[in-house]
Amino acid sequence: MLNLILFGPPGSGKGTQSLKIAEKFNLAHISTGDIFRSEIKNKTELGIKVQSIIEKGDLVPDPLLIEILENALNQLKGKSGYIFDGFPRTHQQAKDLDIMLEKRNDSISLVIALDVDQNEVVKRLLNRAQLEGRKDDTEEVILNRMEVYQNQTAPLISYYKKQGKFVQVNGMGSIEEIFKSISDQIQQLQH
Ligand code: AMP
Repeated sequence: MLNLILFGPPGSGKGTQSLKIAEKFNLAHISTGDIFRSEIKNKTELGIKVQSIIEKGDLVPDPLLIEILENALNQLKGKSGYIFDGFPRTHQQAKDLDIMLEKRNDSISLVIALDVDQNEVVKRLLNRAQLEGRKDDTEEVILNRMEVYQNQTAPLISYYKKQGKFVQVNGMGSIEEIFKSISDQIQQLQH
């Protein structure tokens, strides 16, 4: 199986690139952010629980992630692996993911981080706020999401470096340029 994590700060282009990579390499795309947004839209119990947390730009508590992950992992249906987008975001989530994959005799193949300039990312997010009207794209919430990323998610880089699974690509070019850099990393892995 080819199991990838697309890593990077909010606004680094993980969503856009994950969809393209999922299509090219026949992977199941797992975006925990998308799952939560759909739960909120459908006003499910989980959606109601997480709505205010997400609107503030804080992280949803780890135990809730385990719940949705188990379900998401069961959506493999003929795919060649998974691409995780916006997950894991904490040490605990990374460990839980490793354990869940291990139970399936599987593991993470590679973590690909999008290297972007922080100012550029804030600019992109403010632009997306206007286009999509996401409630967590106001300036105040964006700054909080950046801080949460730095404090809770960025430390995962060393977790995956220790496992020898971490690579970085330049996330500052055009969508197609970045897509090519990511694809090259995946193809190297397959050779
Ligand atoms: P995203 O679309 O990936 O930026 O996620 C939007 C929001 O959903 C985040 O700001 C968090 O509040 C929540 N969220 C998504 N994925 C996770 C995760 N793996 N752990 C905790 N919270 C998450």
